[in-house]
Amino acid sequence: MDYISNSLCCNYVEWETIEVEDLTEQNRKMKILIATEKPFAKRALDGIKEILAAAGYEVALLEKYTEKEELIAAVADVDGLIIRSDKVTAEVIEAAQNLKIVVRAGAGYDNVDLAAASARDIVVMNTPGQNSNAVAELAVALMIYMSRNRFTPGTGFELQGKTVGIHAYGNVGRLVARKAKALGMNVIAYDPFVTDRTLFDNDGVEPVGSVEELYAASDFLSLHIPATEQTKKSIGYKLMMSMPKGATLVNTARKEVIDEIGLEAAMTERTDLKYVTDIAPDDNSTMAAMFGNRFFATPKKMGAETAEANINAGLAAARQIVGYLQNGETRFQVNKKPCDCK
Ligand code: NAD
Repeated sequence: MDYISNSLCCNYVEWETIEVEDLTEQNRKMKILIATEKPFAKRALDGIKEILAAAGYEVALLEKYTEKEELIAAVADVDGLIIRSDKVTAEVIEAAQNLKIVVRAGAGYDNVDLAAASARDIVVMNTPGQNSNAVAELAVALMIYMSRNRFTPGTGFELQGKTVGIHAYGNVGRLVARKAKALGMNVIAYDPFVTDRTLFDNDGVEPVGSVEELYAASDFLSLHIPATEQTKKSIGYKLMMSMPKGATLVNTARKEVIDEIGLEAAMTERTDLKYVTDIAPDDNSTMAAMFGNRFFATPKKMGAETAEANINAGLAAARQIVGYLQNGETRFQVNKKPCDCK
């Protein structure tokens, strides 16, 4: 308003009209929506709001929603979106006409339709590493839980001296490896995308040349691959059957990477094999009934459910939104850059 009256007083009528239009768009506060079916902890939420408000953005909140229509309605006028495991489908993206950036507070981003986002030049990011320690601690806890036969007296064994295979040497895999070393385990790993051997050497870990070699040598196999077209349903009968006697598959990654039919067949044929997972399989109740103590799924995905992980990932997401909208920072972008996808 001040600007308009100043302009009027100086009789810059033509120029003033153009500026008024520009200012309306420029002065519109950008709006960031935090959309979480499973809400952030209060401390995390307060921190996120503080970062966004300090950067001058309007903050909107959609929590514990049950229908995708609620998300579709809420994104209508937002410039940025922070999510957790929420599904950002092509339909959601279509409904968000001002959307410029989506940040998934967490590691996996298969809940976002990357192609639909890229087609609209919307940047998608994750917050890698922020919840890795929480997940790694859970992987170790699940190994101990199964080695103690789910706390059945007189039936447990120790991790020390056993071999753990780390399938994928990313943020979580590396931390599991270091913790396993501290427990006195022999640690081997397979990750075809880690070409710098010193990464393994520095952790005292032996890289192996193939996924088959990894499973065949692992008393415990800790799974850390992402769910991709290549990895979906890639762990099943053959790999399980190749594992040593009494071996345990530990999945804190994604349920989609498991071929459940193959896994069930292997565990039926080999009554010494065990499966423990943080991501309940589709066939959860059947598997629980079939395999008793040899199978356990956490009642809810627990990997990132620590105060620290929640706060770290949420704050990182807020900072990344500000970094992109104010400085064009795209370090953690996971979809194709606009120039690649046209
Ligand atoms: P990351 O991106 O840091 O590491 C992934 C690793 O997988 C990379 O090193 C990559 O080279 C490797 N990789 C990719 N394709 C592969 C293949 N075909 N074979 C072998 N290695 C392959 O991811 P991260 O943060 O370590 O997360 C690992 C997994 O944990 C992901 O599936 C993620 O979704 C999951 N996760 C689960 C929880 C939970 O709550 N349980 C929380 C965070 C992450």
